[in-house]
Amino acid sequence: MLTPSVLIVGAGPTGLIHALTLLRNGIPVRIIEKQDAFQLGTRGCGMQPRTIEMYKLLGLLPDLLEVKTDPFPVVKFSSPQGDNEEGNVLPMVERIANTPSRPINTGFMLMQERQEHLLRTRLEKDYGVTVELHTELRSFEEHDDHVVAHIVKRTPDTDENKEETLKIDFLVGADGGRSTVRKQLGLDFLGDDSPDLKEIGMVAGDIEALEGTLDQKVWRIWGDTTSNMLSLRPCSIPDKTHINFFIGGVDVDLEKVSSSREEVVKAINAITGRDDIKLGNVINMGIWRPNIRMVNSFGKGRVFIAGDAAHVHSPTGGQGMNSGAQDINLAWKLALVSKNLSPPSILTSYTAERIPVIATMLSKTTELFHKTFQPASPEKMVEGWRRGYELRMFGVNYRKSGITLDEKYTYAEDEIVDPYRSGDDGTVRAGDRAPDAPKLAPVGQTNATSHTTFFDIFSPAYHTLLVFADPSQHGEAIGGIVETARGLPSFKEVVKTVLVLPQTSSSTNDASTSSADMVLLDTEGYAYKHYDVVADSQQPTIFIVRPDGFIGGLVFGVEGIRKYFALIFKL
Ligand SMILES: Cc1cc2nc3c(=O)[nH]c(=O)nc-3n(C[C@H](O)[C@H](O)[C@H](O)COP(=O)(O)OP(=O)(O)OC[C@H]3O[C@@H](n4cnc5c(N)ncnc54)[C@H](O)[C@@H]3O)c2cc1C
Repeated sequence: MLTPSVLIVGAGPTGLIHALTLLRNGIPVRIIEKQDAFQLGTRGCGMQPRTIEMYKLLGLLPDLLEVKTDPFPVVKFSSPQGDNEEGNVLPMVERIANTPSRPINTGFMLMQERQEHLLRTRLEKDYGVTVELHTELRSFEEHDDHVVAHIVKRTPDTDENKEETLKIDFLVGADGGRSTVRKQLGLDFLGDDSPDLKEIGMVAGDIEALEGTLDQKVWRIWGDTTSNMLSLRPCSIPDKTHINFFIGGVDVDLEKVSSSREEVVKAINAITGRDDIKLGNVINMGIWRPNIRMVNSFGKGRVFIAGDAAHVHSPTGGQGMNSGAQDINLAWKLALVSKNLSPPSILTSYTAERIPVIATMLSKTTELFHKTFQPASPEKMVEGWRRGYELRMFGVNYRKSGITLDEKYTYAEDEIVDPYRSGDDGTVRAGDRAPDAPKLAPVGQTNATSHTTFFDIFSPAYHTLLVFADPSQHGEAIGGIVETARGLPSFKEVVKTVLVLPQTSSSTNDASTSSADMVLLDTEGYAYKHYDVVADSQQPTIFIVRPDGFIGGLVFGVEGIRKYFALIFKL
């Protein structure tokens, strides 16, 4: 193994996704995990569409499609369930058809344990990198040009501890809500300290559902939190019959219920009023109490935090694991700095870009939390189960970021951009999610089987310059744009140029001689439509898509390209 440049602490979903993104960029990593075994449990089971797009970007979509399930209908019953009561279907997640620009418009379900397995498998298969279990970060020292990490490796058989001192370029603490890294950095972890939060909680865990007991394709809820409530959420995968449970409400003694399997089963029987639900062993369980907090900075110097280490909140809304996945906002920047292509100052944009998004996420999940756990009436609790479209995270954006450049749209200083929703306002701007477009034919091979999509071209390891132009109109300009891109440092490695011809283009022959890395004909017009580009505009329109799938630059010529990359590279 190469000497690691980055040490990742914690092998939850956040640490694993960071490790994979850095490795996809050619940056050697080590990933350590203090536990003796990998985490079990359903936990962050709801994968939002934007997280699935991240999986696609990382080349994990085929693995995911093999094991995921679609969201199940949520059916609510009284507590106890009445004779012959069929329950009400709750309008939780609306199934919305996929579109050309949003090829996955509704999320998937996959228990977190399985997501982590999938990520670990890819790390091992593609890079021979394995998570080092029994290995704990105890402390670190930060220096101007490196970090020294003090690690303790335990041998489980003998219980012996072996200390190691490791020198790395950067350290990423993906070490969960109680993060050692955050504490040692001395970052504020501010949040809601109201005493009534401590009164609320639920017993959460996974239990075996014995065969034939429950239809594994329905998520069932009984009662409500004004008295007692039970949720039984399947997260079925072919070889498992786990069912995830939450038991809570003002009448529930959480300590007692969580004391044994028998108490859990007793509570389930009492709340449902049913004795036909046959349950096996408890796989994991604990009391969850709300802890709603976030940091004021996502790192200092060469040490960063991500995921639950930086933000903890209520699971209502299913944003936690998903937000940790999107903290890969850091990874591509770390990769460019490690390659000495970007100045370390670019790393401050990680905090600047993520803080507004996470603050908004906290307020959204907290609002749902109050509706679910402190409803004005049992009827009102239903509102807490309704998931707004913005929770799919398509609108998450970095529009006012200091490292984006927009030559089409400008903002007044006091103009408010909604970090969760503005990216979904019908315009396409720098800082927004880069939309997909299908049916793009590589020029020279216009047969249907060779069609590609933008999402097949984007990569976590390079910027993609989408140049919307037609040689018959913009021949000279195209040459200048490609030339400028080629003049960027390490162009071949970290920038890809893609010339996108309008559907009506008659200059495919001229285009085939272009020196762009790729020339695509927009055979159905989806690319021009979803990027809001007029085919016969006076000048080329260039979207610079960042390695995290967001639009970094929306510019119209070589000056714009230079200006954008001056924000990113050491030029
Ligand atoms: C009941 C429940 C339901 C949830 N439902 C959802 C949902 O539907 N959707 C959603 O998006 N999210 C959900 N979440 C939240 C989601 O589980 C978390 O946000 C996610 O696990 C965070 O991932 P992470 O990698 O940042 O941290 P973690 O998963 O906590 O991983 C951190 C890892 O770091 C290790 N570690 C800690 N300190 C050290 C050290 N010093 N050295 C080495 N290793 C260390 C820990 O052992 C741990 O394995 C839910 C959470 C709970 C509890």
